[in-house]
Amino acid sequence: MLGIKLTGEKFRSWLGEQPCTRKVNEIILHHTWRPTASQYKGKQTIQAICDYHVREQGWGDIGYHFLIAPDGAIWAGRPVGQSGAHTRGRNAHSIGVCLIGNFDEEELTERQRLSLIIVLNALLERFKLTAEDINFHRDYAPYKSCPGMKLDKAIVRSWVSELEAPNETASERDADDALSHPDVPSWAEEAVKWALKNNIVKGFPSGKIEGYRHATRAEVIVMLHRLWRALKESQH
Ligand SMILES: [Zn+2]
Repeated sequence: MLGIKLTGEKFRSWLGEQPCTRKVNEIILHHTWRPTASQYKGKQTIQAICDYHVREQGWGDIGYHFLIAPDGAIWAGRPVGQSGAHTRGRNAHSIGVCLIGNFDEEELTERQRLSLIIVLNALLERFKLTAEDINFHRDYAPYKSCPGMKLDKAIVRSWVSELEAPNETASERDADDALSHPDVPSWAEEAVKWALKNNIVKGFPSGKIEGYRHATRAEVIVMLHRLWRALKESQH
């Protein structure tokens, strides 16, 4: 299982195909603490976490079901049909999702946050849960800060509703292309390209569209004004 890297676009359909007969009633979030986000080196890092769990902890496999990297990559760990090894006393009926980084000090990248939203939504859908079923490791281990003091549970739960329902063609899209535009849902891509070309939207200075964020009323009015101006100019 280890070594399967998924993009947000592929995750939902992939998850739907994974067998699971055990009862899952919650999702528990973790961070790696070590390695930190800045130490992440792709598959090598995932393998090192797995080796640590198997050799040092003596577990049969990596303890988490999913790991989410700073670049937005989603790594499949232990099969969802098997109990994880991540939260003492809560493993039998939970899914363990681990964010790579030390969120006592580091910040989630936007790509990582968007992938987390996609993973959480897909898991809630698959196991018929609600945002209230998302918990933090520290809820069950008060001596730990996991998944990091920079993360707030109420805020993470509120992120789940940011995602629009994905359409079915999404899973057929090219994985690399999806990864390079993780902030625009596939159903909006054509419209976003048109809006950029016609200067209706400009994106943020980072070059991102931030397609899952709410627009303010002022931003909507500015976009309408740009559209009106573009139409007026095209008549001359
Ligand atoms: Zn933890």
